Order: sequence, then structure tokens, then C-alpha cells
Amino acid sequence: MSQMCVGGVRLAAQTTSAAPSKPTPKLNKPVPPRDRKKEHPPKQQGDPRRPPPSSAAPKPAPRQVSFPAPLPPQPRVAIIGGGLSGLVCAQELANLGLRSCVFDTGEHGPGGRLATRSSADGSLRSPSLASHTDNPLIFDHAAQYFAAADPDFQRMVAQWEAAGAVMSWSGPVVGNLCKGQFTPLSEGEGGTGSERYVARGGMRALALHLAATAEGTGLVELRRPNWVNGAKAEAGGWRISAKGKGQGVFDAVVIAHNGKCANRLSAGMGVPAIHRQLRRLKLSANWVLMVAFEGRVPVPQGMQGAFVRDSEVLSWAGNNTAKLFGLGDAAGAQFSFECWTLISTQQFGKRHKVPQEAIPPDTAEEIADAMLGAFYDALGGQLGGVLPDVAYRHVQLWGAALPLNTPGVPCIWDAVGRVGVVGDWVNGGGSMQAAALSGQALARVIARQAAGVREEKGQSCGLHADFSILKDEEIGQFPAAGQLECCPR
Ligand SMILES: Cc1cc2nc3c(=O)[nH]c(=O)nc-3n(C[C@H](O)[C@H](O)[C@H](O)COP(=O)(O)OP(=O)(O)OC[C@H]3O[C@@H](n4cnc5c(N)ncnc54)[C@H](O)[C@@H]3O)c2cc1C
Repeated sequence: MSQMCVGGVRLAAQTTSAAPSKPTPKLNKPVPPRDRKKEHPPKQQGDPRRPPPSSAAPKPAPRQVSFPAPLPPQPRVAIIGGGLSGLVCAQELANLGLRSCVFDTGEHGPGGRLATRSSADGSLRSPSLASHTDNPLIFDHAAQYFAAADPDFQRMVAQWEAAGAVMSWSGPVVGNLCKGQFTPLSEGEGGTGSERYVARGGMRALALHLAATAEGTGLVELRRPNWVNGAKAEAGGWRISAKGKGQGVFDAVVIAHNGKCANRLSAGMGVPAIHRQLRRLKLSANWVLMVAFEGRVPVPQGMQGAFVRDSEVLSWAGNNTAKLFGLGDAAGAQFSFECWTLISTQQFGKRHKVPQEAIPPDTAEEIADAMLGAFYDALGGQLGGVLPDVAYRHVQLWGAALPLNTPGVPCIWDAVGRVGVVGDWVNGGGSMQAAALSGQALARVIARQAAGVREEKGQSCGLHADFSILKDEEIGQFPAAGQLECCPR
């Protein structure tokens, strides 16, 4: 992998298109860092039988960025993505006394797939909702609940719980649903420490809590909505731009998002091993239907949330009103609507994939009808005969919903280029636990290296980890999701 040194600070040759604010420094002879061979193996020779690339061939990938100096003791870290992994990374850096700036595209708030839509905060806009202001509709429309099997994550969750940001979702109310039969998940099913948690006020509220706590340290700044579309290396570090507007120069970059956006961003950065790992990720597409019923859905045995089995269309059905407000007690009685989140199977998502930003209205109607029909079937079709009338419904496609494969490492870090990657997919699957632990792990790596620690296995990590396939057909491969085989066939 060829590299160039620029000025006193070594810099890759890829930065020609950058607009450095400083004068272009002179070239120096590169000095390979100790672990460069291992983490950045030399390029393979091309196939001699192949014709030489034509002038129309795609632009060669930018060469490896290399900063020869170690991370400064007080690095400024840019975290691109304010989902759970990015927010936890920022918090952990702050816990370790380091500064970061989190950039997030979220219009309604940070959190990414910790997403809640509510008529109370304007994130659920619809003229038909105007008459329902006294009874706000609320939907968690990606992550539904989470479990904490890992001790580090358990410690985090204990803090969130103590702060009132999360609460347990207890009782035999979550389970498997098949043809009208509901089987609650048994205690501890799917892993140890598998108490179920939900965020008070919806998952977005947890993200807001995490962002506020991190910003409260004085070491974290959240810039939102801010879509980062440029990260260029220059002598002083990484120059970040959002929609072409400069956002400053940072000593290190954490990519805390994935999919096309991250692939595009990393393609031009000059961190080929990082880019390669990001591109190897495969993601599912899942449809989500938010539906408010005018009255109670006739469910078996107090079911509040269920993995739907034996359905080609649905994988999950969850009653947000019951989950967030407790339908069983007096608090629940004031709600005349029930807000349900229905999540499709990955196969259904794949079969009916459309551009998520421009879903044709006819498709939206068909998908909503199919999902409601599948819900009715899963309930057995006989409970009370019909579902209550629908007061509101809205479908959304998560085009990059859940990872289908994973390198299964805590985090990815290119110490030479000072770029890291975090996210659920990095650390074993589509769960909040995986995302949070990944963010925490990279923060610790950065802090150790800023403190001058030499790692036994080399300064970089995860750059060449092999991927394995994630198998479960679940909304998230998260602990306590329960067993698949439950359905009488
Ligand atoms: C339908 C669905 C249901 C799920 N259910 C569960 C569940 O019940 N339990 C569970 O544990 N897990 C569940 N998950 C998985 C869980 O939501 C994720 O594992 C977790 O939220 C991922 O966090 P993250 O930080 O890795 O990524 P994300 O949440 O995707 O965060 C990435 C962030 O980066 C931002 N971003 C992207 N590009 C840019 C850019 N260029 N500049 C700035 N910001 C950018 C995005 O806006 C986003 O906020 C579910 C996921 C889906 C889709």
C-alpha cells in the first residue's frame, strides 16, 4: 500500500482534492509504523492476463492516509453518526476525559434506529391526527425493546435505569405468536440477564437522554441535523465537511453509521481497509407499519409484544400503548387508541424493496394491507372476529435495517489513518447491546492510544476480520429474542 509523507506530518497522497486551509507541505520519506504490514498488507499484483485498465476505468482508490505522529494526548474526535453506538462512544470518550463532536442527520433528534414517532412532538405529521391531540399517538418504529446480557452493557443500562431513562418491560407479555396462540418467553430465555427494557417515552427519548448526558460533561458537542459528506486528511488531521460546509479539523474520525452513506464517505478517505470492511456488510430491508386502532385489539393472554411465527409477512407485532403506558392499570384506561408497530420479515422486505425515500403511494397501501392481513391471521382471525377500525396508519421501509453478516469484533480501528468504525453490525449483530458495546470499545482503544499505550496485537484492530453470516430471521439478533421453533405446524 503506497503512502506519502507530507511535511512534519505524514499524509496520504489521496488528499489532492482537499482544500487545506494551510499551505501544502513538502513530501517526506515515509516511515512505516510497526504494525503497518500486518494491518495494511501490500497490494496484490494484478492478473497479467488481463488487459491494462482503459482510460474509462474507474478512478483508482485513494492511497492509505498515514499520520506518523501518535494520537495527541487530548485528541478531538469526530463521530459521524449519533445512533446508539456513536452516542455511547462519545460518552465513553468523555468518561475518559476526551473531547468529541457527534454529527447526526436526524431531523427529529439523534438516535438513528432508536426511533420514535409521536403526534405529540411533530415527528408524526398527518392532517388526520389533528383531532387526536388529547390522545397522542406514539410508536417505536425500529428498536422495540432490549436486553442486557453483557456485564459492561448491564452497567450502562443500570445507569440509564437509575436516571429514569429506561424501565423494565416485565411479565409474561412478550412471546411468540402463531395462529392465535401466544407463548410468553420464559424467564431468562435467549441468554442470561435477559430482563427486557424499554425507554420511557419511546426509544428516541433514550437517545435524547444519552445526548444530553454526554453534552452535560462539557466534552461532547452534538451537531444536528448535519449530514457529513466529506472527510479529507490534511496536515492537521481530518477536515470534516457537512453538505460542503466546513466543520473543523479533528485528530481522529469514528464512522458510526453504515450502508451506502458510509461506503460513499469512506471510499474517498484513503482508508482502504476500513472501506473494504464497510462494503462487506450486507443489510436487510424491513417494512414497518405504524398503525393506531380505535379501541383495543383482541389479543390472547395479555400479549403486548410478539415475534410472529409462521408468517411470511410479519416478524413482530408490538403494542406501544401497552408497553409505554401500561394498559393493565388505570393509566392505560385513558387511551382510546392502541398504537401498534408491525415489522415485516426480511424476506417480505426484500421481495417488496423500493427506494425508501420515494415509496409509491400504491405500494404503501398494498404493503399496509398485507401487513394488517398478516396481523389478523397471526391473531388467529377468530379473536373477536375483526380488528378495531384504523385511526392512523403509515408504512416505512428501513432499507438498511439489520445486519446480515458481521466481522464479530468489538470495533474496527485503523491506527495509521486514525479512523475507526462502530455499530451493531461490527460487534455481532443487530442489537442495541452490540451497538453500545461497539461504541464503548472504540472509545477505550482511542483513549489508550492517546495515552501512548502500545497494544500487544498491534495498534489497529478488526481491519481484516472475516465476516460470518447472521442467521436468525428476527427483527434484531438481540439477546432474549427467544427461540424460533414454537409454532405448531
Ligand atoms: C425495524 C428494526 C427493529 C429493531 N428492533 C430491535 C429490538 O427490538 N431490540 C434491539 O436490541 N435492537 C433492535 N434493532 C436494532 C437496533 O435498532 C440497532 O442495533 C441499533 O439502534 C443500531 O445503532 P447504531 O448506532 O449502530 O446505528 P444507527 O442507529 O443506524 O445510527 C447511525 C446514525 O448515523 C446517522 N448518519 C448516517 N449517515 C450519516 C452522515 N453521513 N452524517 C451524519 N450522520 C449520519 C444516522 O442518521 C443515524 O442516526 C432493530 C432495528 C430495526 C431496523
